Amino acid sequence: MFKKDFPIFSQKITYLDSAATTQKPKVLLNQTDTFYKKDYSNVHRGTCGLANQATSMYEQAREKVANFIGGESKNIVFTKGATEAINLVAAGYAQILKPEDEVLVSIAEHHANFVSWQQACLKSGATFKVFNILPDGRLDMDDFKAKLTDKTKIVAVAHVSNVLGVINPVKEIVELAHEKGAKVLLDASQSISHLPVDVNDLAVDYLAFSGHKVYGPTGIGVLYGKIECLNELPPYQFGGDMIDEVTQEKTTFALAPAKFEAGTPPITQAIGLAVSLEYLKKIGFDKIQKHEKALMKTLIKGLKEIPNIQFLGDPKYKTALVSFNMAGIHPNDLGFILAKENVCVRIGHHCAMPLHNYFKMAASLRVSFGLYNTKEDVQTFLKAFHKAIGFFK
Ligand code: PLP
Repeated sequence: MFKKDFPIFSQKITYLDSAATTQKPKVLLNQTDTFYKKDYSNVHRGTCGLANQATSMYEQAREKVANFIGGESKNIVFTKGATEAINLVAAGYAQILKPEDEVLVSIAEHHANFVSWQQACLKSGATFKVFNILPDGRLDMDDFKAKLTDKTKIVAVAHVSNVLGVINPVKEIVELAHEKGAKVLLDASQSISHLPVDVNDLAVDYLAFSGHKVYGPTGIGVLYGKIECLNELPPYQFGGDMIDEVTQEKTTFALAPAKFEAGTPPITQAIGLAVSLEYLKKIGFDKIQKHEKALMKTLIKGLKEIPNIQFLGDPKYKTALVSFNMAGIHPNDLGFILAKENVCVRIGHHCAMPLHNYFKMAASLRVSFGLYNTKEDVQTFLKAFHKAIGFFK
């Protein structure tokens, strides 16, 4: 239905790896081309018409991104990706945390939202705590409640895990965390392109996602922060555009979000991201969710008919992605045959080693959807998968 909007699909390819990165719509490619040809300049400096135009487009992009998630421009920091957005907050916390403090993350986190906090705790002397999931892939909320204490300063959790595809109970987590005086950082990398994400509704303190996973460019990420949270965080990097006044003796910093955007920002990418988000908004999440749910139903049905498939978590909870193994065959071998059939899936630990350890698996095969996928893609995958199994048996 939407495939025609994505020029890459003029080649014969079955792309089922959108959780790793999404393909780019024509509207984005056209807009990027026009921007470089007609409007390109640096931002927040320069006085010519081009400089004013680029600055205005960059700031409008901030407003559109804010709008997309229900925030305001002042809450939006542009980074180079979700990883940098999370690192920005974690690096700030490494300076703020005291040895008696605690940080709580789930075992299902992507390394970006796991290692950053582990390191922040190592630097500050705070305690790094990990709460569990249930075998069906949902978060173990009893374990969460048991490990959340008055000492917890921040809870870092994904909206949707990049391995399990489960939508986590964010509102409940936020409510419980706030009762203990802890902040919540939500990693929305895997939800932002599949379901509505509203920072007011979810009441999170920080939220991070990458542009390239939501049909936008690479090199752009978003950190949302409540303004009081951004104000208490120290700057992440130093340089141009983030200062108020500099003397030989000392420097005072600009207010957020400028305080966190040292140096020339990803201008073209930020403007491009806003175009992709508008493209998505026009289609609407009702349509997207209905379409992706139907794809998941067909895929899961097809997989369940295959004996010896081991799902990571119960497939009934999954949104737009599924990870699994085939008993007795290494996923690398399956991936090799699938690649030969021009079917792109992801093989490995998906940057979630603690989660794979929980399932006592070193790796898995992940199929993930974007809005451009079709039932034919699912059938092509299933056919290729059967062929791969047959080959190794
Ligand atoms: N968080 C989750 C849940 C992810 O799936 C990913 C990427 O796969 C990231 C964070 C990191 O995103 P990026 O590599 O774009 O910074």
